[in-house]
Amino acid sequence: MDKSTPKSQYRDQKWLEECFQHLLQNHFPDLPQGFPIRVCFGSPAKNRFGSISARNRSCLIRLNGLFTDLEIPIYVVQETLAHELAHYVHGFGSGLPKRYEHPHRGGVVEQELIQRGLEETHHLAEAWRKAHWRSFHESRCTVQIKRETEQKSDKASRWSLFLEQPSCRSQADLIALWEAQKRRLDLSHTPKIEIVEWLHATTRQTAPSYYSPAQKRLALHGLLADRRIPQTILEFELLYWLLRFAVSSNFQTIQKELEQKKLGALLTVAMQWRRAAWTRFRNQHHPLQ
Ligand SMILES: [Zn+2]
Repeated sequence: MDKSTPKSQYRDQKWLEECFQHLLQNHFPDLPQGFPIRVCFGSPAKNRFGSISARNRSCLIRLNGLFTDLEIPIYVVQETLAHELAHYVHGFGSGLPKRYEHPHRGGVVEQELIQRGLEETHHLAEAWRKAHWRSFHESRCTVQIKRETEQKSDKASRWSLFLEQPSCRSQADLIALWEAQKRRLDLSHTPKIEIVEWLHATTRQTAPSYYSPAQKRLALHGLLADRRIPQTILEFELLYWLLRFAVSSNFQTIQKELEQKKLGALLTVAMQWRRAAWTRFRNQHHPLQ
C-alpha cells in the first residue's frame, strides 16, 4: 500500500442516521408528525446539496453524495438536513398542510432555522460553501472529468479511423466537390462559408449537414464520406448551402433556382434518399453506434 496517500474514509448510512437523530432531538423535538422520514446519501452533485420528496406516503431526504466525504464539515451536513426538515415542517414532502405557497420565498427556511437555534450553524455552513465548495467539488470530480475527456477522445479517434478508411472520401475530395459546385453556380466567392469539412457527428446529429455561423463552417455529416452514399447527395447538400447564402433562405426559391439551372433532378434524388435510406444507413454504419 502506498503510505503517502491517507486511507480514504467515508461517512456511511449509519453515521447519517445518527447525525439525523441528533439533530431531531436537539432542534426539532416538536416535529409535527407527517410522513415517516428516511434519510440517505444520493448521487454526487455540483449544485444541489439536499432534497426532500414524498412518495407512497413516506418522505425521503437525500443529501449530496459528496457529503460522505470527511472533508465536508459536519455542520454543513447538519445544516443541509435542517434545511430539508424546515421544508418538512412547512408542509413540503411531509404530507402536512402547506404553510407557505413557495418553499423558499421570503426567507422562510432561514427563519425556521433561526427559531430552532441553528442560526450559527446556518452561517457557518454558508460561509464554508462560499469559500470551499467549488474547489472541493472540482477536486472530487477530477475522476469524472478525466473519464469524460477520455470518452471524448475515444469518439474522436473512432471518427478518425472511420474517415481514414480507403472506402471513404477524403477531405481533399470534399473540397474538390465543393469547388466544383461553386463553378456550377458561377460563384467565385462565398462570403459566409470559409470552412468545409467532415463532421464528427454525434448520434443525435441526424441532419446531413450543419452550418455554424460563428466559425463560418459548413460541416457535412461524416457518414456522407462513405462512398456507398451517392455523390449526388453530397452535391445537393453543397449546392443547397451555396444557394441559401447566395440567393435566399427560402426553400422554394432554392428549388426554383436549381430547376432553372437544370439541377432539379438532384433535389428529387436527395429528398428521396433522405426519406428512404439515410436513417437506416446511419443506424448501420455510424462509428459511434
Ligand atoms: Zn430548499
